[in-house]
Amino acid sequence: DDVVEILENLDKRNVNAIVNETPLDDNSILMAVSALNFKPRFINGPARKAEKEDDDLHPQPPPQESAKSKRPPIVTIMGHVDHGKTTLLDALRNSQIAAGEFGGITQHIGAFSVDLGKKGQKVTFLDTPGHAAFSSMRARGAKGADIVVLVVAADDGVKEQTVQSIQFARSANVPLVVAVNKIDKPNADPMRAMRSLLEHDVVVEQLGGDVQCIHVSALQSRNLPALQDALILQADLAELKSTKDGKVEAVIVESSVVHGIGKVCTLIVSRGTLKKGCVLVAGNSWCRVKTMQDEHGKNVTIALPSQPVRVSGWRDDLPTPGDLVLEAETVDRAQKVVNLRISKSMQEKAERDWEETAEQREKDRETYLKNRQFLLNRGQRFGSTLRCVVHKNQRIEKDQDDTHPKFRIILRTDVEGTLEAILEILSTYKSEMCSLQIVDFEVGSPTEKDIELAKETGATIYAFNLPISNQIRQKAEASGCQIDQFNVIYRLVEALKTEIESRLPKLE
Ligand code: GDP
Repeated sequence: DDVVEILENLDKRNVNAIVNETPLDDNSILMAVSALNFKPRFINGPARKAEKEDDDLHPQPPPQESAKSKRPPIVTIMGHVDHGKTTLLDALRNSQIAAGEFGGITQHIGAFSVDLGKKGQKVTFLDTPGHAAFSSMRARGAKGADIVVLVVAADDGVKEQTVQSIQFARSANVPLVVAVNKIDKPNADPMRAMRSLLEHDVVVEQLGGDVQCIHVSALQSRNLPALQDALILQADLAELKSTKDGKVEAVIVESSVVHGIGKVCTLIVSRGTLKKGCVLVAGNSWCRVKTMQDEHGKNVTIALPSQPVRVSGWRDDLPTPGDLVLEAETVDRAQKVVNLRISKSMQEKAERDWEETAEQREKDRETYLKNRQFLLNRGQRFGSTLRCVVHKNQRIEKDQDDTHPKFRIILRTDVEGTLEAILEILSTYKSEMCSLQIVDFEVGSPTEKDIELAKETGATIYAFNLPISNQIRQKAEASGCQIDQFNVIYRLVEALKTEIESRLPKLE
């Protein structure tokens, strides 16, 4: 059944490397194994890397030079908590609705576009206030935005997150436009707010600098057109340009699973013209654009540079905000790229896991040495001579002294080397309070004879690095004897320690 499942899974992923008795390549193995929810581990280290993978991870040819034209700026709003970011976003969004152009229902899709009504001028706002969207985009190598609107409450001035926002914009090399908010409040002091910005090297125009600063009231929608004009001016300065020709490039702003629609992503086009039916690749998923909607829930047929749209039709994983979106020539190419990316991320994970196991192995060794020391110390505490019987095949005669605590084992190991190593460690165990008796030891899986012996002597069978057949297991169960399996020496020692501890008289 498993094999059929693996084959079906590979088939679904378009891996056609399945020819009878031909070994699968590492990528296919990784895919098959993880599709079954197993963790891949390569005995000889992580899987080999695909050659020239960087080309294969990119679904489209390099863009052709084509005439560029102005595109709207993408703006994000930042500032201290409660200084009015959300209110300002709402006011900007509502300015469209108030203009009567739309039905009044806006959806939160991660971004919205405001038409300023002059010569088709538009501004795109990211509508997750604060750092969240911006920083997750930045973290994934996207620029985040063209302009940061820094909101500073006129009655509160510069605060901790105001400073953080300034640093953020600076590190991303994104210009600021300051919005001094809440000027309607009786205790508003815009001059104080502007002066305190000086301390952080933000010099507003009113104080002789070159940072635009608009005084607004988000609550009363006062002076918002001036803010929008400032954004357009800033955009002109930055000469933001793009082309609507060629293959589409975009950035994911938000992604979610919507009931009844499935996986949807809001993206902002950065180049080209997005249309229904376009094949896209983003992160570890691909999509044939099924529907496109704007922030008013209206279906749109095309999306131009800087325009945000919500796109449905995604397959595989859900893309993450900040993921680069690229148009692929064909579905086949898109699938191939996604498969390669998935296996690459699995490879990277396998590499990390491999390093972690190496660390774990080192830790295991340390624990093993500590346990060995524990047994030695324990022996010294009771200070007596070696009591354990380490003579091959020496049988324990019917017990002479039933009151004396003891623990008996029958030891079976895979090879001579481990047998010797374990015996050596056990020989260091010395105690009169509880004796360890090795009833028998041998290389090879436990046999029916061992079970009889165990039953006779009350010993536990310790099997090291050995398979136990079902038949033996059933026999052991029927005889009420215990078989413990180990494949790490220190675990065996630890189990032994626990058994002995439980038999020791309680210490004061
Ligand atoms: P955010 O945490 O930065 O998103 O701040 P909010 O937009 O949630 O605003 C915090 C509080 O300030 C809310 O009670 C708003 O009503 C209020 N507020 C926001 N803008 C203004 C404004 O221009 N004037 C006044 N008086 N209050 C405002």
